[in-house]
Formats: sequence, structure tokens, C-alpha cells
Amino acid sequence: MSAARIEGAAHATAAPTGGAAVIELRAVGKTYAGGVEALRGVDMRVEQGELVAIVGPSGSGKSTLLNLIGTLDTATTGQVRVAGYDVGALSDAKLSALRARHIGFVFQQFHLAPGRDALDNVADGLLYGGVSGRERRARARATLERVGLGHRLAHRPSELSGGEKQRVAIARALVGEPDLLLADEPTGALDSAAGRVVMDLVRELNAAGTTICVITHDNEIADALPRRVRVRDGEIVSDARTGAVPAVHP
Ligand code: ADP
Repeated sequence: MSAARIEGAAHATAAPTGGAAVIELRAVGKTYAGGVEALRGVDMRVEQGELVAIVGPSGSGKSTLLNLIGTLDTATTGQVRVAGYDVGALSDAKLSALRARHIGFVFQQFHLAPGRDALDNVADGLLYGGVSGRERRARARATLERVGLGHRLAHRPSELSGGEKQRVAIARALVGEPDLLLADEPTGALDSAAGRVVMDLVRELNAAGTTICVITHDNEIADALPRRVRVRDGEIVSDARTGAVPAVHP
């Protein structure tokens, strides 16, 4: 996490305050227009280097939580901090900068540009970073190689399998070296074999240091991850860790 990377995008009141938390939610509530209370009193802290499943049934509040962590929406009550920044204190322009520099998104439906090949789709992930075209393409190539797609650079999405498309989407999310990767049902549109490959990649990327949150309704996927935050009716009902437990600050 680097304050310098968001230089000019945050002012003093929203600057990082140290500590290694990538996500910190304090007493967060979200009530939609019409009165639906989608989240209530959510406290959650995710440290750098963690791999977390946010799991719950449909309607439990997962997407709402993802939108708040991804700074795509704001909390009604409480405080959301991402990469050390107080999201509620940032203007829209500064939130865009925070997203572009610190958060990578992966969605169930890939969201790749159909007319562009894998290399350009990934290079486009750097469009807002002030990186030259040549450098964007070089970094895109290296990232595609990292996700095992060095042999698919010139393929368009229609020429790729579902699993390959998701790996391109993961490369696009990663190419800017975000502090946090948010994956929303990343295997939801894949068959089980392709889903396993994608989740293996997620674990591999986390082992190499990327902090990752996977949003899923699928207990099997959640149970294979080292930390599971269970959401139900807008509240966190359990938060369990197994396996290699990352350091947790008091
Ligand atoms: P999940 O992702 O777990 O399916 P959501 O976060 O989408 O859950 O939804 C939580 C609750 O908030 C549900 O009752 C849902 O109907 C409601 N909700 C979600 N988005 C909106 C919205 N934009 N306006 C009103 N209610 C919403």
C-alpha cells in the first residue's frame, strides 16, 4: 500500500493512517431508498495479504458490501476505509482515483471488450494510470503470462473459453498492481473444472501477496478459502479462519 500512488487524489482528512488493514468497516449500515436495510452494524477488518470469502445466500447483503468496499456506493452510517482512505471523506474524482490505483475488480460475467484481443483488454486496465501505450502492452503481456495465458495474447473474448476469459479479466484487474482484488462470484459462469482453475489461480495470486476478497453464495468455494465471513440478513454472523492464518492486529 502506498500513499504516493494516490498523490494528489486525497487530502489530509482522508489520508492513510498507518496499520496494514486494506479494508476496515466500522459499524457500517446501508439503507436503500424505500427503506430496505441491506446492512446493519457491520464491523470487518481485512489485513494485507489475506484471502477472504464473503459468503451468504441471495439477498443477504453481499453485493451491497462489495459495492461499499469497492467504493462504488457509500454507507448510510458508519465508516468505510479502503487502502487506508476514509471513503466517506473523498470526492467522486478522488474515489475514481482510489479505485483505479488500489482496487481491481473481477465479475461473474467477465466484462471484457468484445472487439479487443486479450492483450488490449488487459492493457486497458492501465488507461487511467498515466502509463505509455508501449508500457501498458508490456505490462499486460507479463500479467497474461502470469495467469498462464501467454499463448492467447491475440485472441478476442469470443475465441477464448469461459475460464480463459475469466483469467484475462483477472489479469486486467491485476495489471495495475492493486492493493485489493475484489472478485464477485468469479466462478459463477464457469463449469466446475474451469472454476477450479480460476480458484487455484486466486490462491496462487494470494500466495504471491495480493489481498483478495471473493464474494460467493457457494459454501464449497468459501470453505476452501482460509477466512470466511458469513453474511445473513445484512449482518456478519460468523468470521472464521483456518489453514495458514495471517497475522491479525489487535
Ligand atoms: P446479495 O448480494 O447477497 O444477494 P444484496 O446486497 O444484493 O444481496 O441485497 C441485500 C438486500 O438489499 C436485498 O433485500 C435486496 O433486495 C436489497 N437491495 C439491493 N440493492 C438495492 C437497491 N438498489 N435498492 C433497494 N434495495 C436493494
